[in-house]
Order: sequence, then C-alpha cells, then structure tokens
Amino acid sequence: MKNVSIFGSTGSIGTQSLDVCEKAGYSVHTLCAHKNIALLEKQARRYSPKKVIVTDEGAAAQLRASLKDTAVSVEAGFSALLEAAKDDTQDVIINALMGVLGLLPTLHALKAGNDVALANKETLVAGGKLVTCLAKEKNKTLVPIDSEHSAIFQCLQGNHIEQVERLIITASGGPFFGKTREELQTVTKEQALCHPNWSMGAKITIDSSTLANKALEFIEAMWLFSLPPEKIDVVVHRQSIIHSMVEYVDGSVMAQMGAPDMRIPIQYALTWPQRMDSPAKRLDLLSCPSLTFERPDVETFTCLADGIEAAKRGGLCPCIFNAANEQAVELFLAGKIGYLDIFLAVHRAMEHFAASDYETVEEVLEQDREVRAFVRQMFS
Ligand code: NDP
Ligand code: MG
Repeated sequence: MKNVSIFGSTGSIGTQSLDVCEKAGYSVHTLCAHKNIALLEKQARRYSPKKVIVTDEGAAAQLRASLKDTAVSVEAGFSALLEAAKDDTQDVIINALMGVLGLLPTLHALKAGNDVALANKETLVAGGKLVTCLAKEKNKTLVPIDSEHSAIFQCLQGNHIEQVERLIITASGGPFFGKTREELQTVTKEQALCHPNWSMGAKITIDSSTLANKALEFIEAMWLFSLPPEKIDVVVHRQSIIHSMVEYVDGSVMAQMGAPDMRIPIQYALTWPQRMDSPAKRLDLLSCPSLTFERPDVETFTCLADGIEAAKRGGLCPCIFNAANEQAVELFLAGKIGYLDIFLAVHRAMEHFAASDYETVEEVLEQDREVRAFVRQMFS
C-alpha cells in the first residue's frame, strides 16, 4: 500500500498514473494541475486525495467552491505546490509536470527526503547537476518513467554501471521520418500533433516529431545513469517495441521490450524492484511487425544534433537548448511561428549564448528566462 502524489495529474502521464494507482490499490495523497479544474474535480471525487493544488489562482477558487461538499482541501499557486513537494507524509511523488517548471518541485521533494518518480525530463536537462547531486546526498534513486530510461533502468538491474559499454536509446523517428527539410516547411500543427505510436501531451508530441525529444532523452540518460555522451547512441526503431538497450563490455546487449503503453514504466517506477500484475497491453510477438533499426537523420532534424552538442558542451548549455525549444514549441502551438522555426530558434540560441557552468537553481532559471526572451524577440 503506497501513498502516491501526482504533480500534473490532468496530463497524459498524470491520468495514466492515476489509472495505475487505482489498479494497484494505492492511495492518492496530493494531486496538482494548472487549470483543468473540470478534470481535477472528477479526479478529486474519484480518488479522494488529501489535497488538490491548482497553480492558477482563479481556477483554484472555482474548484474550492465546487468541492466544498467533500473533505478535499484545495490550495492555490506554485508556492502551494512547492510546500506539497516537501510534505513527508507521502511515499512517492510522480513528477508529471510539463517543462522546466518541474525543476523546483523536484528539488524541494528531494531536499525533504521524498522519493521522486520522474516523467518530467526537462528537470534533468536543465538542472541535472543539482538534481542528481541532491539525490545522491539524500541517498535517493531517481526512478525514471520515460519509457527509454525505464527500459535502461530495467536492463541495468543486477548489473554494474562500470561494465556498461554504451546505452542505445531507441527513437520512433516521429511522424516525419524520411522527410526532407523542404517537405517539413509546410508542416502544420495538426500534422505534427499526430504521433504514429504514442498518445502524449502536446509539447512532447511536437518534440517527438522534431527529434528534440530524443535530444532531451540523451541528456536525461547522461544524468540518470552518470555516463558521458560518448557512451550513448540513438537509433531509429520505427516500431517502438524495443524501448532501449544496454550494451555491456562483454558484447552482451540487454533490451527491454513491450507494447507501447506508458502504464508499464509508470507502474515499474512505483513497484521497483518488484513487479506487479498490470492491465497493460501485452506484446504479441507473432503479430508484431519486423523490427528495424536505422541511423537518425540529424542533418534534417537538427534539434537532435544541437541537443547532443549541448550535452557535450555541458554547463548551462542543455538548459539553453531546452529553454529555446520550450519557447519555440509554445509559439508554434499558438500558431505564431512555422514548423522549421523551431529548429532555427534552437540553433540560434545555441550559437548566441555562451555555455558557462552553474552552481544554483537561480542561475538555471535566470538562463531559462533569458533564452525564452531571446526566442520571443527573434520572432517579434
Ligand atoms: P501534458 O501536457 O499532457 O500534461 C502536463 C501536466 O502539467 C498537466 O496536468 C498540466 O495541468 C500540468 N501543468 C502545466 N503547467 C502547469 C503549471 N504552470 N503548474 C502546475 N501544473 C502545470 O504532458 P505529458 O503528460 O505528456 O508530459 C508530462 C511530462 O512527462 C513531460 O515532461 C514529458 O516530456 C514527460 N513524458 C511524457 C510522456 C507521455 O507519454 N506523455 C512519455 C515520457 C515522458 P493542466 O492540465 O491543468 O494544464
Ligand atoms: Mg521517451
């Protein structure tokens, strides 16, 4: 029996996490979202959490009124979220927030000695050094939810990280695999939001189409498994059956496979090192397509090359990469820039900002703000 909190409970990972908790019989401690109070109200009534946090203050007031016939307390604002991260009466926090705003809640949770299951990859990309140092200091394992990292985490069980030759992160290639730069010029929001294998939130779906997601995952893997960029490879595997692999020094390669269903890595993050029965789809090898592997096209999908370059430069460079991408994707989703402008914004930001090192979260967040302003200025 676990007491689970979910930050970002109304999103794609958040709703699937609640599904996992319900099937596993876990109780729900705190739920948090930004402003989708219609769904949050349903979740509060169904799962009876101790507390619900709405970061949008106006929406919080509305939800408080709607839930006044229940025992659920409703709190407002980002500061309430940070307080909730520190609460030591929960067993684990699933961080399923979208974007770099997940960084402070992760740090607050770890500082208070709480366990964190991490879907929010931007946390590790922007502030990986701070997050992993703190986890080490507190003797906490950051358990990944991202399917590739969960796959690697599973392939590492019972093995030694020193005996790893390389990690092989698989990429679906997204909806525009095989397209030329010219063909990408006319891509619309609707086309980019249509992923071949996974159903996810809007931002990560766009990231998957540009391969920025794979770059974020490359950096995420460096931090989670303490490996240098030279020990990480990306390979396109269109079928999303092998979720990633670990090659060991003896030439043995371990792969984790399964149907593309996020409830598998979410549940493993909660039950690790144990496993539990799950309603997730089963892999039917006899009806699954042939497995193929190809090199990613980093000349067309420059976000991947830029992200790997950011990983190599280190310091604040991954934060710069992430901030430019987050801001550009937001503008693209709002219909304000074209699809190729995302690639341009990321590349320009990487050229413009020098990558210095950092020691504090304030430096990371300040860099993030500067890069976002730079990208907005680019297209104003
Ligand atoms: P969604 O966009 O579906 O959900 C985001 C969640 O964060 C929502 O609950 C949203 O609330 C909440 N949120 C957004 N802004 C704020 C804010 N300012 N304050 C508080 N809450 C906020 O994202 P996903 O579930 O797709 O992704 C979440 C994270 O998991 C991302 O980092 C993504 O990269 C990662 N991930 C996702 C996968 C997937 O399959 N979806 C797979 C692997 C990783 P509201 O609804 O009210 O706006
Ligand atoms: Mg992933």
